[in-house]
Amino acid sequence: AAISTKPPLTVRLCAPRGFCAGVDRAIQIVELALEKFGRPVYVRHEIVHNRYVVDGLKAKGAVFVEELSEIPADHHDRPVIFSAHGVPKSVPADAQTRQMFYLDATCPLVSKVHKEAEIHHKREREIVLIGHNGHPEVIGTMGQLPEGTVSLIETEEDARSFEPKTGRPLAFLTQTTLSVDDTAGIVAVLKERFPEIVAPHKEDICYATTNRQEAVKAVAPLVEAMIVVGAPNSSNSQRLREVAERAGCRISHLVQRASEIDWAAFEGVTSLGLSAGASAPETLVEEIIDAFSQRFEVTVETVRTADETISFNLPRELREPAPAAA
Ligand code: SF4
Repeated sequence: AAISTKPPLTVRLCAPRGFCAGVDRAIQIVELALEKFGRPVYVRHEIVHNRYVVDGLKAKGAVFVEELSEIPADHHDRPVIFSAHGVPKSVPADAQTRQMFYLDATCPLVSKVHKEAEIHHKREREIVLIGHNGHPEVIGTMGQLPEGTVSLIETEEDARSFEPKTGRPLAFLTQTTLSVDDTAGIVAVLKERFPEIVAPHKEDICYATTNRQEAVKAVAPLVEAMIVVGAPNSSNSQRLREVAERAGCRISHLVQRASEIDWAAFEGVTSLGLSAGASAPETLVEEIIDAFSQRFEVTVETVRTADETISFNLPRELREPAPAAA
């Protein structure tokens, strides 16, 4: 028998990893809309931040736009779907004005934060949002209320220098995909400066973000290097890469596909952690394992830190059968 000359590599798979319930639902909404209404179906913004997923849906007839104004006037009767990240109130309002038929793929856990914002506003509280400037979820959450109502805080320094604009009681909300540890630091500063600040009943950081970061934290001390499969514009994927780095992985890379692996960095490595952001499909994780198997004698072990059973209902319009043809 041939003796393998490939060096041994233990791959420790972080579990949970990859698709969350919100991403799964958003992709299903596009697929079902295509089945039910035919092509094209428009999608405002990348449905989830993953090129592979977006390209797959494009091939099936989805057309991606950044703004509703890009949809040609003679296609206003085609369905348009809002991405999982959520949209400012102005977007459905605009769709109504243009008499468009829209389906909302906003993750229910993002919608929950939108509702919290409205409740705080109604109770005359001044709102602080902890999040990343420019991320679509942040734009969507801030856009639930009139411009200038919500103040954005990104760092502990922001929390230290924040000056309330009104004399109202304060409340804070967070983006769903933040670093659990960084957010705790920011919240601690806010609570120290404003002991009365109203906090979310339960963390706004979602279960999927929390669980994926926990799994990476558990695996990081057991491995020399970590690869997170995900897109550079995916907030939760970026946070996973950081978690591994902070937990001591001297190599911690975010890659979209196997073709992006920097092989020189992994020379001599004998143990590798592998995770994937909430928008990255499992097939891309398999692609990474296959690529390593060509260069290493790979043994795969799974390290599971949580079980996930959560799933979300689809919008009513997609649960009902199509109207019978006349
Ligand atoms: Fe929803 Fe969390 Fe997934 Fe975002 S990461 S889509 S908030 S479950």
